[in-house]
Amino acid sequence: LRAGVVRQTAPAERRVAVVPTAVAGLRGAGIEVLVQAGAGAGARYSDQDYTDAGASVLSEEDLYEQADVLLSVTAPDPAALRLLRPGQALMGLLRPLSNPRLARDLAAAGATAISLDGVPRTLSRAQTMDALSSQANVAGYKAVIVAAEAYDRYLPLLMTAAGVARPAQVLVLGAGVAGLQAIATAHRLGAVVSGYDVRPEAQEEIRSLGADALDLPTVTEATASGGYARALTSDEQRAQREALAAVMGRFDIVIATAQAIGGPPPLLVDDDALRALRPGAVAVDLASGPLGGNVYGSRPGETTYTKNGVAVIGAAELAATVPRAASEAYARNIGALLTHMTREGRLRIDLDDEIQAGVVITHEGSVVHPAAAKAVA
Ligand code: NAD
Repeated sequence: LRAGVVRQTAPAERRVAVVPTAVAGLRGAGIEVLVQAGAGAGARYSDQDYTDAGASVLSEEDLYEQADVLLSVTAPDPAALRLLRPGQALMGLLRPLSNPRLARDLAAAGATAISLDGVPRTLSRAQTMDALSSQANVAGYKAVIVAAEAYDRYLPLLMTAAGVARPAQVLVLGAGVAGLQAIATAHRLGAVVSGYDVRPEAQEEIRSLGADALDLPTVTEATASGGYARALTSDEQRAQREALAAVMGRFDIVIATAQAIGGPPPLLVDDDALRALRPGAVAVDLASGPLGGNVYGSRPGETTYTKNGVAVIGAAELAATVPRAASEAYARNIGALLTHMTREGRLRIDLDDEIQAGVVITHEGSVVHPAAAKAVA
């Protein structure tokens, strides 16, 4: 099997799907590694690093010509997708549910689309393939660094001859993978941390990291299947926003990471809550995107300021800003999935396999993943 590592072209994307140290493992599994020239540049891996590791470096045209499966982080741009041949496979974090057009185009091209965001996350043998978790982990860590950079005081309590600086009060909204990593990171930096989630089981996880679990009795039984939070009713959402606005004045830094399945991210910090924050406070919104965000007015990739001097940071795709750590983890995820799907030197599509049923989106001209097919229809 020949796997081709593509160069990412999305703006500000610096990750690469396979790092040089992962090449040997793929070769050991009988997979030949081809790399598009410059693919690792954003994460400071040179073409020579890949050649030294046993990969072949090719032009984009040659890569698409020779590879059986193309490995990417996010979806390649439309011009590159036109190079795909029928029967060729594309593997990456393709997000077919939020981008149904891509699934339709890939099916029309006769390509097999394999998306890592469909890996069954609670299945223990699939944990090494869980790219959503590995990238959320990086993003949660970086969110704290971004907040600390924008904040005009210390995070820890500092006692010096020049006086005592109080520690920053940090609130993390959403205690999934990114939120728990943000809690842990802020705690390590010495901030006083509180966490909040609608899933009751998250309370214990928040406390186990040394943070205070904020108890807002506005929402009950919010756990849905697979450990995700269900979407809240509009009454629950309103009550939640009011309860959060009422406590917001206590915090210096808010890091919001909440996602709801099958819909836009919930708005948690509304206009009133932003007004309740102190001047100089920082709100980092990891959910900021085209469908909205957790923080009122956040714009993906931008920092804006409210009238009362609160910085609102629209921090989408933070994992791409820590490209080496994110790429190393992603390379392990995609390598594990690729080797799982390779039998006797070929990619074997088997929709009876629980993992493959989650990740295979298009095959032989149709959208075969039920949820993606529904999104396309
Ligand atoms: P996510 O990115 O979908 O959402 C982030 C967090 O936001 C979640 O904890 C969610 O409960 C919370 N949230 C959603 N709506 C909210 C609201 N209105 N107010 C407050 N919080 C809200 O979550 P994720 O990080 O992808 O994790 C989802 C679940 O999957 C978690 O239970 C996690 O522990 C679980 N998980 C399990 C495994 C495993 O078993 N191997 C791996 C990864 C994730």
